[in-house]
Amino acid sequence: MKVPLLDLKPQYLSMEGELKEAFAKVFDSQHFIGGPQIAELEKIVADYCGCKHAFGVSSGTDAILASLLSLGIGRSPVENEPAPEVIVPTFTFFATAGSVWRAGAKPVFVDIDPVSFNINCGLIEEKITERTKAIIPVHLFGQCADMYEIMEIAKKHNLKVVEDACQSIGTMQNGKKAGAFGDAGCFSFFPSKNLGGFGDGGMVVCNDDSLAEKLRQVRNHGMEPRYYHRWVGGNFRLDSLQAAGLTVKMKYLERWHKARAQHAEFYAQELKDVHEITLPQTMAGNRHIYNQFVILTDRRDALMSYLRENEIGCEIYYPVPLHLQECFKPLGYKAGDMPVAESIAKRCLALPVYPDLTKEQLKYTTDTIKKFFAK
Ligand SMILES: *Cc1c(COP(=O)(O)O)cnc(C)c1O
Repeated sequence: MKVPLLDLKPQYLSMEGELKEAFAKVFDSQHFIGGPQIAELEKIVADYCGCKHAFGVSSGTDAILASLLSLGIGRSPVENEPAPEVIVPTFTFFATAGSVWRAGAKPVFVDIDPVSFNINCGLIEEKITERTKAIIPVHLFGQCADMYEIMEIAKKHNLKVVEDACQSIGTMQNGKKAGAFGDAGCFSFFPSKNLGGFGDGGMVVCNDDSLAEKLRQVRNHGMEPRYYHRWVGGNFRLDSLQAAGLTVKMKYLERWHKARAQHAEFYAQELKDVHEITLPQTMAGNRHIYNQFVILTDRRDALMSYLRENEIGCEIYYPVPLHLQECFKPLGYKAGDMPVAESIAKRCLALPVYPDLTKEQLKYTTDTIKKFFAK
């Protein structure tokens, strides 16, 4: 039996007719940039997240960059002051910190909580300086960072909060959706996310009207009116075709979240007696949407080889914490600075958890894992 880490084909086939119809409308109109499909998707996502505004953008990465630029966080080439600082967890996908750097700000890394894998709120305040402008909490793998704590800290120190909710559209904390807590919330429609497009895409949500207005301009080269540029923005636009496909997919998102949660429940049941594995935990008040199902084990590399030999897909998210990435060497971090993230990077392994997995595939996966640990 084969169990890929992700197989998008069954999902596509289940809605092929509907999708092709939506795409055909865009083709017939030949309106590829800024078509009515964009506003339609934005309305649906804003409502889904409980936010006033939503802006389709070109990717999750650009969602973060456009948010930072719109909040005025970054440095222009004509300034002489030291770079502003933005606090980010060290254990996340590169884009969280890469966008900070590209905005002209300095990423300041914080270690993570060993249970949730999200930023350790107890370590944030010691990193705040007079140059700190924002915090970017990441809702990693599908559950929220401790937004109550983070918003408290941000309020106390007058910091902006940009939520990296790229893996977490639909996640909730105490009933409130990811993206709705901070000044801006960023989503990715990269095909492997819970809501995946047919290429790259993303969304920014926010509640503030003036920030919304600026975001609208920044995503289109800071232009208002046409060919008059108020800000240096970028081409951060979402395509009409992507919006059309994503609007169709939004109808099924909750169903897919539920299927992922059921798979996670199955894994938890089947693997609970395998003492060499630590299963992912959902923190109190959180809804987990399992963009990834990540286990920890000291025998990670051997388990990974064994699963792959048995045609079970698995992956390491992420093998190198950001403070140890080559491109961030100038920031001066060294091995040992963030012990929790460094340890988890050596022990984490993501198992297949996409909605269309069959019971047989799930059972084969857990049986294979049990067999490995019984050896
Ligand atoms: C996927 C992801 C991004 C970037 O999204 P893209 O659409 O691929 O640019 C940013 N942050 C996190 C945590 C992600 O998982």
